[in-house]
Amino acid sequence: MLNTDLRTVEIFAIGNELLIGQVMDTNSHWLIRMVTGLGARVNRVAIIRDDYDHIGSELTAALQRGPRLILTTGGLGPTEDDLTVRAIARALNLELREDSEALEMVRQRYAYLASIRPNVSPELNAARRKMALFPVGATPLRNPEGAAPGMALDAPSNHPDGITTIVALPGVPSEMKAIFTTSLQPVLERTIGAGGYLEHTIVLDKGDESRIAELLREVQAHHPAVYVKSRGQRASDGSYRLTVVLSMGGNNLALIRDEVLATEQEAIEGLTRLGYTVLQIVES
Ligand code: ATP
Repeated sequence: MLNTDLRTVEIFAIGNELLIGQVMDTNSHWLIRMVTGLGARVNRVAIIRDDYDHIGSELTAALQRGPRLILTTGGLGPTEDDLTVRAIARALNLELREDSEALEMVRQRYAYLASIRPNVSPELNAARRKMALFPVGATPLRNPEGAAPGMALDAPSNHPDGITTIVALPGVPSEMKAIFTTSLQPVLERTIGAGGYLEHTIVLDKGDESRIAELLREVQAHHPAVYVKSRGQRASDGSYRLTVVLSMGGNNLALIRDEVLATEQEAIEGLTRLGYTVLQIVES
């Protein structure tokens, strides 16, 4: 396993909507938790305008600082203002070309959409082809939830390995998460270590942590890999509720999910026996 000091990450959240308060940057928060769950370290998060100069200067400064990985979110779509990949290419002085693998991913996505929605055409028009324009040397990342493939690209930097891997992910949270947990895993493996982090919050109908302490101790003992924690929460109507938070990080996402779900099932059975009702389970 690499030294944490070498497994450093910077995150760029790109999009004008983030800088006028229209959309809250939840993507960075999610990425921080995933990266932290892998044992790597996020050193910096920047929120940046959809602008060549702003993205370019932030990227150049980041490469001088030399994190092992830069994760960008936003600006991968088909419209003109989605310019993240072009801005990265321009800053690194790399030519853009149509990537045949990426184009095939875009083609397959629209063929699928046309097959389930009669009003969608499968035709690869210029805007759709734009999503397959990548700098020379880049690798496309399959997007299981949307049309725009992600991108991974190695660039020279001041990191002790001499390389920073730049990864461009979509802004739509479900697409970003889907790429991170599937096609990005080999890139994470070779840069900071593959895997991730999962947290389930069980929201209960009433309070009193002391009544569930013994149960949670037992659940924790049966599932030592999952961190089991109760917390009080004030609801919007002023009432006091308990939440039970189950979290786990590691390098095997399927195993993490199985463990968290098994822990959740045992916790809910015990809580129900104690007379609690589960109001909601929030996954993040
Ligand atoms: P699209 O194909 O939709 O254009 P994109 O990769 O270009 O995807 P954006 O256009 O930048 O992504 O953002 C799409 C939507 O995703 C935004 O309207 C916003 O709702 C959401 N989004 C973007 N960035 C973030 C972020 N950092 N945190 C949370 N949501 C975000």
